[in-house]
Amino acid sequence: MSKGPILKVHNLKKYYPLKSGIFKKTENSVRAVDGISFHIDPQETFSLVGESGCGKSTTGKTILRLHEPTSGEVLFNNKDILSYSKKEFRKKRKDLQMIFQDPYSSLNPRMSVRNLLLEPLLTHDICSKAEAKERIIDIGKKVGLSKEQMSRHPHEFSGGQRQRISIARALILNPKIVILDEAVSALDVSIQAQILNLLMDLQEDLKLTYLFISHDLNVVKHISNRVGVMYLGQMMEMANTEELYENPLHPYTQSLLSAIPSTDPTHKKQRIILQGDVPDAANPPTGCPFRLRCPKAHDRCAIEKPAYQEVAKDHWAACHLYDKGEQLKKNDFISSTNLI
Ligand code: SF4
Repeated sequence: MSKGPILKVHNLKKYYPLKSGIFKKTENSVRAVDGISFHIDPQETFSLVGESGCGKSTTGKTILRLHEPTSGEVLFNNKDILSYSKKEFRKKRKDLQMIFQDPYSSLNPRMSVRNLLLEPLLTHDICSKAEAKERIIDIGKKVGLSKEQMSRHPHEFSGGQRQRISIARALILNPKIVILDEAVSALDVSIQAQILNLLMDLQEDLKLTYLFISHDLNVVKHISNRVGVMYLGQMMEMANTEELYENPLHPYTQSLLSAIPSTDPTHKKQRIILQGDVPDAANPPTGCPFRLRCPKAHDRCAIEKPAYQEVAKDHWAACHLYDKGEQLKKNDFISSTNLI
């Protein structure tokens, strides 16, 4: 195992060009991911959260080059995988796997579970047929699929069981990093808990590193070691899980966390309602990307983009409220007009 982070993402950008006219000239770009940086340590779970369209799923797909990045670096064990040719990257691809939200559309309905698990082994040509047979039985056991279920087809399973098949298909290649893109979002709450527990057991057993992408802050709190909060393709805040949930610094994180229902009925929570919608990623606002919805926005926020800075140890935020000499305190943030 390498020392230090297993994955480092540096200033990653993914812009989708908007073309128009008969010559299909690029007029503008949708900045889906706009210069984000983070790292993940071995066997850690790092989560990306944010509203729909914030760029978290595109980040995952860009790391795996399912969408080619516009610029930036993705260092896997200190090697920039974006600099690999497509052929070189295909060899590395088995080390980085992805599990999607909808297992039904990611599993070929005409293939049995056994063949679904055999296919990646044959594609990557990493073991003999006899070994493959053993691996299939072994991974089936690990994810809770019986020998008898191996000859069935995806439509014969429930949503939770289908996600177990997707997990088995990703893990049969012995990956180092697994990107889970809203992997439990489509499941009932009780099944969600089972799959989350399974993922945590597998992480320990197989020494896996997870990049967990979700809009569900309860789920993220349960599974993550550290969390990054994204808005309009940029990182707004990043800290370890306990610190972020106990002491959110960025107004956007504060509003997201205020929307989680309290488990204590005697505790009356102040909910912060954000005004307006997420701006168009093709025409982001000047200055701070969050300023059009931020209840604490001030003149400077429209002019100057806040630096993404380490406000406390290992706690990063991009907000002028935390610039040196700034007199505003985070606890002043909740204004009465935004409470219900
Ligand atoms: Fe709000 Fe300004 Fe901070 Fe942006 S920089 S989050 S607009 S206070």
